Amino acid sequence: METTAVRTERRCKQCGSNCTTDFQTETCIHIPGRENLAVPAVFVFPKLAICLDCGAVSDFLIPADHLVELRRYVRPQSSPA
Ligand SMILES: [Zn+2]
Repeated sequence: METTAVRTERRCKQCGSNCTTDFQTETCIHIPGRENLAVPAVFVFPKLAICLDCGAVSDFLIPADHLVELRRYVRPQSSPA
């Protein structure tokens, strides 16, 4: 199967090309920390905008429902008062 690259208005932050294409992906995220070794990995399915000229990847966002799942295991460090 061949797909034609899509020229977009979105510019690559690395090379300035407008030849980026969105790809559907799957990623397996392991929760950090020895205490979390038994926690199942979190599977997320983000779209990646990949520059077909230089290979840079941008617009990688974890969907909100999976972000909630990651936060269950990792607490942000408290900010200084
Ligand atoms: Zn690029």
